[in-house]
Amino acid sequence: MSCVRKDIKSMYPDELEDMLKELGEPKYRALQIFKWLHEGVISFDEMTNISNKLRQILSQNCYISNAAIEKKLISSYDDTRKYLFSFADGECVESVLMKYHHGYTSCISTQVGCKMGCSFCATGKSGFSRNLTASEMMAQIQTEQRDNGIHISNVVLMGMGEPLDNFDNVVRFLRLVSDENGMNIGMRHISLSTCGIVPRIYELADMKMQLTLSVSLHAPNDEIRSRTMPVNKKYGIDSLLDSCRYYCRKTGRRISFEYAMIDGVNDSDKCADELGVRLAGIIAHVNLIPVNTVNGTGYRKSKKERMEAFIKILARSGITATVRRTLGSDINASCGQLRRMSAADTN
Ligand code: SAH
Ligand code: SF4
Repeated sequence: MSCVRKDIKSMYPDELEDMLKELGEPKYRALQIFKWLHEGVISFDEMTNISNKLRQILSQNCYISNAAIEKKLISSYDDTRKYLFSFADGECVESVLMKYHHGYTSCISTQVGCKMGCSFCATGKSGFSRNLTASEMMAQIQTEQRDNGIHISNVVLMGMGEPLDNFDNVVRFLRLVSDENGMNIGMRHISLSTCGIVPRIYELADMKMQLTLSVSLHAPNDEIRSRTMPVNKKYGIDSLLDSCRYYCRKTGRRISFEYAMIDGVNDSDKCADELGVRLAGIIAHVNLIPVNTVNGTGYRKSKKERMEAFIKILARSGITATVRRTLGSDINASCGQLRRMSAADTN
């Protein structure tokens, strides 16, 4: 075995079997170990049906990713919990645990920071550090389950980072988290949000996973979108919407479009008209989100009446739009802000 320890929780069952075979262990051990890892143990010593000797060999050759709690904020309005987690190398990400009537949803991060640089986003302002591994994505859910003694039934990839910019690790995470011997969270209980990395949307569509795709649109035309979302200069709205149509055709799933309403930037009647025309013919739902104010952006939330007018205009084009309920508004529950605050603390 090499001296670099392996990330055992990111391994698929067959990879685990191969490794155990190399170690001269029987195949059934792989399933036992897989189950422990996905129950969320953080040490090989917790694997009580595995011999001491094998536990020792495993800990010499492998490590188990953990997400350690650095900070936790609990909303006094609705019990939403926001975590700042750290990994073995000291890098931190945020995750938000929300309670809905149908159960608990965890909003996890997929990267430390983000390269995409959207002008309204706290994560985008902090730059990019590194990709998360599949096991680090799972560890966020597992720490939240352990910390609260709960079972999480839904996952959204809407925390820090652009999931499709970390494609291979995200796909690995999706397959592992939905494994019936693991956390068994079905694809229909998972949403992935993207700023629109078009080639990866095609690739995801071809995998025909039954997850919900959320596309962060935030503008009805290239002029406004390129100003707020630099990714649009590479993949404009027409090509993005073509990939969305392809995604719907391939998977039979409806797409949801995220639209952060920014006062005076993208919330006019004309914007609503344009958006209606652009989305016509796509099986879509539009989520309007009053933009979360991030220091230094100068953006303000649209007024309630503006949002209502916007919804009415979209309805004329046959598009349903709703205002997304904001949870944890007293703890800045949208991601990127806690890490920025925490970095500022230590500066
Ligand atoms: N990178 C992915 C997923 C993480 S961001 C993406 O961009 O889709 C999760 C969501 O939060 C996205 O829809 C993003 O556009 C939105 N968002 C980011 N900053 C925001 C802010 N200040 N107010 C409202 N929504 C914001
Ligand atoms: Fe990255 Fe998404 Fe933030 Fe844009 S909105 S900077 S893609 S995390």
